[in-house]
Amino acid sequence: MKIVGIETIPVRVPIHPNIAIKSGRGGQHSLSPFLLVKVRTDDGIVGLGEASCTPRWSGEDQVTAKHFIDQYFAPALIGHDPTNIDECGKAFHPTIAGNPFTKAAVEMALWDIAGKAAGKPVYELLGGKVRDSVATKWSVSGREPDKAAEIAREAIAKGFKKMKVKVGIDPESDVARVKAVREAVGRDIRIGVDANGGWRNVETAVNVINHLDEHDIYFVEQPVPQGDIAGMALVHGRVHLPIIADESVYTLQDARNLAHAKAADVFSIYVGKAGGIRCAKRICDFAESVGLSCTVGSNLEMGIGSAAMIHLAVATSGIHPDVFPCDIIGPMFYEDDLLAEPLPIKGGEARAPEKPGLGVELDDAKVEKYRVR
Ligand SMILES: [Mg+2]
Repeated sequence: MKIVGIETIPVRVPIHPNIAIKSGRGGQHSLSPFLLVKVRTDDGIVGLGEASCTPRWSGEDQVTAKHFIDQYFAPALIGHDPTNIDECGKAFHPTIAGNPFTKAAVEMALWDIAGKAAGKPVYELLGGKVRDSVATKWSVSGREPDKAAEIAREAIAKGFKKMKVKVGIDPESDVARVKAVREAVGRDIRIGVDANGGWRNVETAVNVINHLDEHDIYFVEQPVPQGDIAGMALVHGRVHLPIIADESVYTLQDARNLAHAKAADVFSIYVGKAGGIRCAKRICDFAESVGLSCTVGSNLEMGIGSAAMIHLAVATSGIHPDVFPCDIIGPMFYEDDLLAEPLPIKGGEARAPEKPGLGVELDDAKVEKYRVR
């Protein structure tokens, strides 16, 4: 089997305005401009992929993602056997220095083809299930306290028992928001916080964390900006809560540097940030080898991207969702779903589709409805 072409489709699906994420990274995530990818083969199998194009996060948008696929990745891949994913990676990854989210979209389509060709779900190609389902948590937007409390109550109604609250916006409102959420959800719900690097230095981070801890939080995600590994290590040394690195860990080398600096206990891994399922799994395997944990984070992926995350999470022992639940909740944020059949995702739990490949198909009418022209 050989790759004969790659088609790209820019889409934009609205997010429910009530739950749209406002975070320490600035701005509000209310529309998701994504790029769908179809990798075509000479024997008719089509692999599906999805690139998260959130410039504030990834430095990529729909125009750049399409450009790099058309001009660099497709020419490097045409003629290759798509089921040889390692060889394909060697052919197309080095053609561009960065752009992991776009690389991940193409790579997940290769896994989809390999699974469809073998008649097996992707998790089987990754070594098989280590768990039947993946525990997930809700993400409470960094809104005013009353609004955050209302979102948290709705999350419980959806079935979530764990959640994280966005902080890192400003210290005073961060504490007020977490206090309001704690009062709204009671003592039995576990709450973590995600600062998205929004606390500007170590002193601020440690101070705010100590105040937040009065409201019984159980982890802190990305307390300081992404490049500040030394700062994260100082925070890690001064607070007793587990520290999750998210924006600071894209590559295996990032994970090695964080582990060496003793800067984090947990890595938040995305298929997109890592540049694909293969690289994401390598980071998880490394973390496990040095006694650290992983969870799966999110850019509010839609159906295809979320499916890739679930296959990774059910097949990777270095991911520990029971302790640090994953953020595989993207599809719950959207006003519509582009999949022909929705993923088996509900409040607090995600399951892998059981059909071959990623196990998802697009609803073509919906794709046309949300296509960006
Ligand atoms: Mg995060």
